[in-house]
Amino acid sequence: MRLGALEAGGTKMVCAIGNENGEILERISIPTEAPDITMPKLISYFADKEIEALGIGCFGPIDLNRDSDTYGCITTTPKLAWKNYNIVKMFQEALNVPIGFDTDVNGSALGEATWGISKGLESSMYITIGTGIGTGIITNGKLLHGMLHPEGGHLLLSRHPNDSFEGTCPYHKTCLEGLASGPAIEARWGEKGIQLAERREVWELEAYYIAQALVDYIMVLSPQRIVIGGGVTHQEHLMPLIREEVKRQLAGYIDTKELLNMDEYVVLPSLNDNQGIMGALKLGLIEYQLEKKG
Ligand code: ADP
Ligand code: ZN
Repeated sequence: MRLGALEAGGTKMVCAIGNENGEILERISIPTEAPDITMPKLISYFADKEIEALGIGCFGPIDLNRDSDTYGCITTTPKLAWKNYNIVKMFQEALNVPIGFDTDVNGSALGEATWGISKGLESSMYITIGTGIGTGIITNGKLLHGMLHPEGGHLLLSRHPNDSFEGTCPYHKTCLEGLASGPAIEARWGEKGIQLAERREVWELEAYYIAQALVDYIMVLSPQRIVIGGGVTHQEHLMPLIREEVKRQLAGYIDTKELLNMDEYVVLPSLNDNQGIMGALKLGLIEYQLEKKG
């Protein structure tokens, strides 16, 4: 079966054609401009591909409530041209196939849980630490939604006693994103993360904040595995520091076989940066099955 997949990002749109086994047959990337420029290009890519469904992993926040009049809209995004834009409706009208729709990071969580390192687990998480921080949560084998979708990147944190950086989040200052995203690292230390590779204190502090968030996710969601992706994790020494710090902050309170093997509990993505687009394929497949059942 042929499925379409779209990873809709703030800088580029990755479009692909694949199948129900997660195989990507072809793909293109289109820069994200205003909808009136970008949408016709996306539609013309998918229009003649004979796809049976399309899955979209989208930057957000987005409206995922099927009972809402604005289901399928990108809502309060800072990318103003896309604010309140109903991307699902546009594709539905143009392609007339089932359209699966979720956040980009939920797409990545689903990709890893279906074909990657979290395959077979009932409960897992995917966190991306890049320009922003986002979380995708799988629980009881399904993506967790709720009234909107989880926004675990904005978890409120306690500042490290030696850190006086005020935080970059315009809403919360010292949430995870405000303290530990790529732009937060750059604003605190005056240089981009990639230039700070040799500064151990940078990565110790980074691990301190990420671990604090992970400990909170562990307490609330009890995931069987946590996958961390995004540009900041290209720092190779970061993952071992995060694992150590999670253990230290958990302080032995939770005693499970998963936590005994931290190297397999807190891990990097496994799908060569295809987790997002493969997850979008799966979103399309899920929607197809849902609509077929009627
Ligand atoms: P985006 O989040 O925009 O989709 P990325 O996941 O690549 O993109 O994240 C970009 C952020 O990650 C930037 O803030 C950048 O400074 C940071 N970053 C990228 N590569 C590295 C690296 N090797 N070390 C530390 N930080 C990095
Ligand atoms: Zn915030």
